[in-house]
Amino acid sequence: MRVVQCQHREPNAMPFYAAIEGDELTALASSPFSEPIRLRHSEKHSLGDVRLLPPVIPSKVVAIGKNYRDHIEEMGGMAPAEPLVFLKPSSSVIGPGAPILLPALSERVEHEAELAIVIRSRCRRVAESEASAVILGVTALNDVTARDLQKLDGQWSRAKGFDTFCPIGPAIAFGLDPGHLRVTSRINGETRQDSSTDQLVFGVGRLIAHITAFMTLYPGDVIATGTPGGVGPLLDGDTIEVEVEGVGTLTNPVMADPDA
Ligand code: MG
Repeated sequence: MRVVQCQHREPNAMPFYAAIEGDELTALASSPFSEPIRLRHSEKHSLGDVRLLPPVIPSKVVAIGKNYRDHIEEMGGMAPAEPLVFLKPSSSVIGPGAPILLPALSERVEHEAELAIVIRSRCRRVAESEASAVILGVTALNDVTARDLQKLDGQWSRAKGFDTFCPIGPAIAFGLDPGHLRVTSRINGETRQDSSTDQLVFGVGRLIAHITAFMTLYPGDVIATGTPGGVGPLLDGDTIEVEVEGVGTLTNPVMADPDA
């Protein structure tokens, strides 16, 4: 099952969750975090009548750097001995279709296509072997990065934390094995990244164990698992697509920040 968060286009419309099949939405009668998920079969909508929202607004996005060997090679670094953890603020999160705004402070903004994990339940100190129990589902995420500021600052909060630098969506997919999913990105229809999560240096279970050894995760928190090789610049007027197998395609236009 794939679940989206959406709202009708009129002002002040209430966000709601719905299961999606093709272009047809069926409203959820329960929270996507409760089991079993129940559908309100009497309430159908058409995808064309709604605006998709981020499937969750996480309290934090926990992201992993340097977790595919080909990306480590293109960045010119060493593979870390343990997962390299950083945070993206919830204020950077946007949904499908919302514009990624290029800040005047950076001359080099890049895309990073990633598999993202959505956390089901409050958890800490989760054993690697128990990690699947705290996963609600998976989605796609674009870890947009001001590459020049990442190198300049040394630590990454600014480079990866601008408003609009964390598109998430379009859906949460339930019941997939996160260890074998194709991850791709395209700019203006041209493929830039094409890999699989079976290439992850540290797999999803290891990441959850590593993160929850020092940090409590809350329902709806998101883990961005790292990007494969092929990252490159985003330019004003581009359309960037991040696709994760079984999730769908996360599409965002790119534009210069009009307020910058
Ligand atoms: Mg990344």
